[in-house]
Amino acid sequence: MGSSVSALDPRFAARIRAGIRDIPDFPSPGILFRDITPLLADGALFRDVTAAMAAPFAGAGVTHVVGIESRGFVLAAPVAQSLGAGFIPIRKQGKLPWKTVGREYGLEYGSGELEIHADACPGDCRVLIVDDVLATGGTAAASAELVRSVGGTVVGYSFLIALGALGGEPRLGNARTNVLLRF
Ligand code: AMP
Repeated sequence: MGSSVSALDPRFAARIRAGIRDIPDFPSPGILFRDITPLLADGALFRDVTAAMAAPFAGAGVTHVVGIESRGFVLAAPVAQSLGAGFIPIRKQGKLPWKTVGREYGLEYGSGELEIHADACPGDCRVLIVDDVLATGGTAAASAELVRSVGGTVVGYSFLIALGALGGEPRLGNARTNVLLRF
C-alpha cells in the first residue's frame, strides 16, 4: 500500500493552504511552525478537512482512531465520528490516569515520552493514526509502536500536512499513509 498522493481538488488545496499560518522560529530558532488554528476556526473548512482525512479509510474496517496530543485530538475526534470508530488518546507522559505503556520519541523540535492506556485496544482493534503534521515521523512511528504494544493493528495514517524534506513517510513502513497537503 504505502503512501497515497491524493489528487486533491486545486481549489480545496488552496483553501487548506490559506488556513495554515507559517510562523518562523517557533517554538525554537530555525523551525517554520505550521499553525492550523485559522483552519480550525473556519467551520466549513474544518468539516471538509476532517471528512477528507477520513474518506480514504471508509470501508477499511477501522475500529479506532488514535489522536496524538494535542492538535491530533482536534482532528482525530471528527475523523473517528465520520468513520463510526472509537477514539483513543496518545498523550505526553503523566497525563493518562490509568495503567499506561510508554515510548520515547523524538520530533522536529524536541523529544519526550508518549503513553497509551495499557487496555486501549481490546480484542481485534484496527487503528488509524491521525495527527496534524508529519515532520521527521518520530511521533507517528512511536505512536504505531504503542498501538502494537497494546495489541492493536495499524491500518494506516492520516495527516493534514507532511513536510516532505524531513523524511517522515519512509519511517512509517507499508501501512497506508494519507496526506492532504505537502510542503
Ligand atoms: P515529527 O515527530 O518530527 O514528525 O513531528 C510531528 C509532531 O510535531 C506533530 O505532532 C506536530 O504537531 C509537531 N510538529 C513538528 N514539526 C512541526 C511544524 N513545523 N509545525 C507544526 N507542528 C509541527
